[in-house]
Amino acid sequence: MQHCKNCHTQFQWKKVYRYLWGPIIKPFRCHACKQEHVITMKGRVMLSLLFLPATLFVLFLTPFQSIVLNLGIGMLFILIGSLLSPFIVRFKLEQTNQS
Ligand SMILES: [Zn+2]
Repeated sequence: MQHCKNCHTQFQWKKVYRYLWGPIIKPFRCHACKQEHVITMKGRVMLSLLFLPATLFVLFLTPFQSIVLNLGIGMLFILIGSLLSPFIVRFKLEQTNQS
C-alpha cells in the first residue's frame, strides 16, 4: 500500500478506492498531513493495464454463448481489478507549478 510522500503515513485502502472512483483529475489528499498527491504516469498505465483483461475478455474472447454471461464475467474482472487498484496505483507529490 502507498505511503504519504510527505509524512509517510500509510494511505487507507478505502480512501484510495473512493478517490479512484471520483474525478481523478483532482489531487488525492493525505488524511494525516493534508499534502496533496497526484497519480504518476506509470500509475495511470498500471491502472489501465488492470482493466485490460476485462476489456479483452468482453470484446474478443467471449467464450460463452450467452452475452449476459460474458458481460457478467467481464464485470467480475472489473470488480476484482477495481478492488486491487488501490494497491497498484502510485502517487507522487503534486507540483504547484506545472511545467
Ligand atoms: Zn501525509
